[in-house]
Amino acid sequence: MTSIFEKLQKIVGIDSVTNNEYVRYCYSKTGDCIYQELPDFVIRPRTSEEISDILHIANKEEIPVVPRGGGAGLFGGAVPHYKGIVIDMTSMNKIIEINIEDQVVTAECGITWAELNTELLKKGFYTGAMGPGSGMSAVIGGGLSHNSVGGGGGAKYGSVCRHVVGLEVVLPQGDIINTGSLCSKYVKEPFSRYGFGPDFSGIFLGDNGIYGIKTNATLRIYPKPPFYEAKTFVLKRSNMKYGVKIFLEWLNKGGFGIYDGFYFPDYFVMGMSAMDPPTYFPWKKMTKAAIFYTTEAFSERELEANIESLDEIVIKNKGQPLGPQIEDGNFAKFQYPFELNGNYSFYQNTFGIPKGSQSLSTEAHCPIKRFPEIINAIDKWGAKNANDFAKIQEKTGIPAGTGCGSVGLSGENNVELAIGFVTSPDPELRELNLNLWKEQMATVIKAGAMHYMLGYIASRELVKTGAFTDQYYNFMKGIKKLLDPNNILSPGKFMLEMGDKK
Ligand SMILES: Cc1cc2nc3c(=O)[nH]c(=O)nc-3n(C[C@H](O)[C@H](O)[C@H](O)COP(=O)(O)OP(=O)(O)OC[C@H]3O[C@@H](n4cnc5c(N)ncnc54)[C@H](O)[C@@H]3O)c2cc1C
Repeated sequence: MTSIFEKLQKIVGIDSVTNNEYVRYCYSKTGDCIYQELPDFVIRPRTSEEISDILHIANKEEIPVVPRGGGAGLFGGAVPHYKGIVIDMTSMNKIIEINIEDQVVTAECGITWAELNTELLKKGFYTGAMGPGSGMSAVIGGGLSHNSVGGGGGAKYGSVCRHVVGLEVVLPQGDIINTGSLCSKYVKEPFSRYGFGPDFSGIFLGDNGIYGIKTNATLRIYPKPPFYEAKTFVLKRSNMKYGVKIFLEWLNKGGFGIYDGFYFPDYFVMGMSAMDPPTYFPWKKMTKAAIFYTTEAFSERELEANIESLDEIVIKNKGQPLGPQIEDGNFAKFQYPFELNGNYSFYQNTFGIPKGSQSLSTEAHCPIKRFPEIINAIDKWGAKNANDFAKIQEKTGIPAGTGCGSVGLSGENNVELAIGFVTSPDPELRELNLNLWKEQMATVIKAGAMHYMLGYIASRELVKTGAFTDQYYNFMKGIKKLLDPNNILSPGKFMLEMGDKK
């Protein structure tokens, strides 16, 4: 009888599937490093048809399948919690078409955000939202499955999902569909997401890979404005309400071309100063909160007007501008993706500060006016668990602690809070780390904020904390049952366990 491995080899060829232990080990974790499970097979398809064939086998044999992009997720989403097959999407990394007339790009979902934008920038365009800070390794399929947003246009463009025009998706039972205008046989090009009935792109966005495997995506592209400014201010008063006031005034008085806007609580700035960190945190002498903006414009005149309006609002709220250079503390420059290798290099370098540490994230969104309330809830939670953080520090020497690192304007009307905690990856601390992580997540959820990249852990905590109403959760489960009756795709997420066909 032909084994499953041989059947998979037949689909993709002997070089693109493996059951070697050392390769499987490489696919057993994601960026969070807490969850680990070895898959039985790792496979790298090159076409949607190959993925369809893999899913046919998986259904027949009832083997779980987990899609994996860059593996830079921070919530265990691409870990094969039920073993089975990991589908590595990174061989599907071609740009299919850059269509300047229709202002769209179509690319395979295994291309990284950095690669895609490098090609677009050669033509003077970008994807608007430049993907997550991990965009040098994270791919577009991962970002679209996570509702990703970060610096790199978060304020102006919001989540990457907002720019989707259409998708090609392989459904869990192997059917291949196109969403958006290409669902009609008569339409020649992907140009609009909406029109032919319900927006079915939406169910595959932020789905964390439970409803289908996205194989290619058409995204809106935008001309990149040639002028920009990046400015950082310290806020004389550290009270967070000044951060709220400045953000709201910036937006409600016109937005002024803001590309990114970030607020850093005082304790974060002080903590970073105390650690004497590398150039990525040049604010060595700062002891107060900080705020920055980057703004873009199509002419110098427009840029000057933006700067004048944005500065006026900060200065009115007792903000003090820092000098223009990184050495002056102008940290904003690191956030503009087209300077100094941009926000990708910033984020990829900040993970692991302090040396040898592990950051466990519970990032979430909330309305601008409520961010101080959410941060206070987290600080209170941190104080309650101070003994555990002290224990970690004592055992490992790593300055463990928790809080909110930054508050970034996102999607024009809300903010993303970079909440999480710093700990040690020491395996002996796994249980403690896991408990703290889940507890902090529950605190964020119950404080009324919204996680956006969910992966395994956050999707389960949402269900466990009772965040979803029964009606809503039943609706989600109903769609899952319809699309994936054997629950082979990404089992375990949202507490949808394999073998549970209810
Ligand atoms: C240094 C660093 C910085 C980061 N900065 C940000 C940030 O600014 N903003 C942000 O949002 N996140 C950030 N992240 C988290 C994470 O990298 C992003 O969410 C990223 O979008 C994940 O993409 P990936 O390709 O690595 O996905 P993976 O981790 O491989 O997968 C993520 C999820 O998507 C599913 N999936 C992957 N591809 C597909 C597909 N084709 N079809 C269906 N499902 C699929 C997986 O099963 C998994 O559940 C950061 C992480 C790191 C390590």
